[in-house]
Order: sequence, then C-alpha cells, then structure tokens
Amino acid sequence: MAKIHILDEHIANQIAAGEVVERPASVVKELVENAIDAKSTVIEVSVEEGGLQSIRVKDNGSGIEADDCETAFYRHATSKIANGRDLFLITSLGFRGEALPSIAAVSKVSLLTASADDGKGRLIKIEGGKLICNEDAPSGQGTDFEVRELFFNTPARLKYMKSVQTELGHISDAMYRMALAHPDISFRFQHNGNQLLHTLGKGDLLQVIAAVYGTSAAKAMLPITAEDPDYRISGYISRPDWTRSNRNAVTTIVGGRYIRSNGLNAAVMRAYHTLLPINRYPLLVMKLDMHPSLVDVNVHPAKLEVRFSKEVELYKFVEEETRKVLLGQTLIPRPGRET
Ligand code: ADP
Ligand code: MG
Repeated sequence: MAKIHILDEHIANQIAAGEVVERPASVVKELVENAIDAKSTVIEVSVEEGGLQSIRVKDNGSGIEADDCETAFYRHATSKIANGRDLFLITSLGFRGEALPSIAAVSKVSLLTASADDGKGRLIKIEGGKLICNEDAPSGQGTDFEVRELFFNTPARLKYMKSVQTELGHISDAMYRMALAHPDISFRFQHNGNQLLHTLGKGDLLQVIAAVYGTSAAKAMLPITAEDPDYRISGYISRPDWTRSNRNAVTTIVGGRYIRSNGLNAAVMRAYHTLLPINRYPLLVMKLDMHPSLVDVNVHPAKLEVRFSKEVELYKFVEEETRKVLLGQTLIPRPGRET
C-alpha cells in the first residue's frame, strides 16, 4: 500500500504559517505590504496588546474584487506574478500568495473590501482556516483587514510569544522601515489607542526620518545622491559628529523593500572609518534603485535578505559615494549625541 500522500490544503496552510507568520510583526508586515502593493496612499495600522489581541490594517488602495475575495485566501493565489519569467522581474513586495492563507490558518480574520468607490463591498470572515462568512457588505474603496487572536489554535506557538512590549517593539521596527521605504504614503500607527507614528505621505524622506528617529536626528542628516550605469543611490546619512549607540546603523531600501545586508553595512562603516568615536554609530537611510534583474529577492522567506548580482561593484560604489559626502563636510567639532 502506498504510504506517501499529499497533505490537505488546511494542514499545508498551517505548516506554511509556521514560516510566514513568526509573530504579530510578521502579520503587520505582510498586510501593510499588501496595502502598498495595492497602491494605497493612506495606510492606518492599529494593534492591541502587542498585536496578540488584534491587528487592523486599513488602506485606500485598489481593493479586491468581490469574486476574488475567497480565492485570495488560497495557497499560491496571487495577482502579482503570472509565470516563471516574472520571478526575475519582481516589482511588487508580495508575489508568493502565501500570506493570507497562512495568517487565516492561525487566527480569526475579517476582511472588508471594495474595488470601486460605489459602496458595494464584500465581507469575509475566516477562523482557523474555516470560512465563516462571505457576503456583500457596504464599503468604500480599499481594504480593511482585521486579525484577531493570533495563534489561538496553535498553543505551542502562542506560548513562545514574548511580552506585549517585545512584540510591540518588533511591530514598531517593521512600521518604521516601511514608512522610511515609502515616504509617498501616509502612515498612521497606533497601539492600544496611542499614536506611535504619523507620516504625511508627501514624499519627504526627511519628514519620515524626523517622525521615526526624532528631529535632532533629522537635523544631523546630509543628503546623498549618486548614480552610475547600474545603480542609483538616494537618501540621507548622518554627520559624523552626531552619533548613536545603536549599531543598526543602516536602513537600506531596495525596490521599495527594507533589506538587511552585512556587505552594505560594512561598506558604509568603512566610509565613516576613523570619523566616529569608538562604539558609536551613524544613522543612514539609503535607497538603492537598480534594474530588477540585478537583484534576486527570492532567497529568503521573509525577503529580508537579497542577492545582488554585482555585489562587489555595488559595495564599492556605496562606500565611495558615502565617503564623498562625508569629506565634503567641514568638520567643526560639535558633538551631538542621541542617548
Ligand atoms: P501576495 O501578496 O504574495 O500576492 P497574499 O496572500 O499576501 O499574496 O495576497 C493574495 C492576493 O490578495 C494579492 O495578490 C492581492 O491580489 C490580494 N490582496 C491582498 N491584500 C490586498 C489589499 N490590501 N488590497 C488589494 N488587494 C489585496
Ligand atoms: Mg502579500
């Protein structure tokens, strides 16, 4: 008798959820990325109790067609890529069609969405992967997604959740990065009713830096822009006389996505080299634009790490351009510190 069989969709989704939905911050990230992909200009995020009780993401984007609402929760269901060739030219944040089924498998989800502003919307409710309701409901254009009681049916995972404060910290980090990557979108973020972030969505990165890191940081920033045939750099780097103790110095944004890159971090630190006191770090928000074929985002489940096809050249370019901006500065000793 054959012993191998294919797992049913429900179990497959629960397994995938283990990878895609590590903690509340992963849900926030996936839902906000969907809102960004839907060309929203205003995104409101409110969470309760570190996201463990509820996470709500409301956008004014394209919305989902009523007939697509249920399909959106199927595994590998996506509107963003259609064939294998698209994988090498990804311009959206999502593309795997795994977030919604994974989230819905381990929480109680409610989705209210409309694709046109005619008030005709659709309401879907799913609990632990089971469809509870799919009906017409009045809604303006956009999507209002609520996730309650995350991990209610996976007690082992729930047990590993840290304190509200820790989970909130991860959510805040995710929100800050997405806001920095998208100064053209207005973000509002609140926790237990307290507003923690508000960006204006006017395309002004310095305003977002002020909202995230404070006005003293924003005042210490020098603009950087540079271009070579393959790469374009834009953003802000801190004056060497303003430093901080947080070694996570560099926020790098590639194709609208926050990424982690030891290579880029090292390149930047080489540029600051002797200009910084020991154990003090700069602050950089750098946007790198390149043709999608020069970067592979399909290497890490949370897409945090990417592979650059010409990494040595890129690191050298970033280091040189950073140094140029720093050396262009006359250094008047005027120590400024973030505590
Ligand atoms: P992916 O983002 O990888 O395509 P998801 O599971 O996150 O997969 O979402 C599935 C699909 O649902 C998306 O491709 C998109 O068509 C639709 N969708 C999800 N969230 C939104 C939203 N906020 N606005 C418009 N469409 C959405
Ligand atoms: Mg997605």
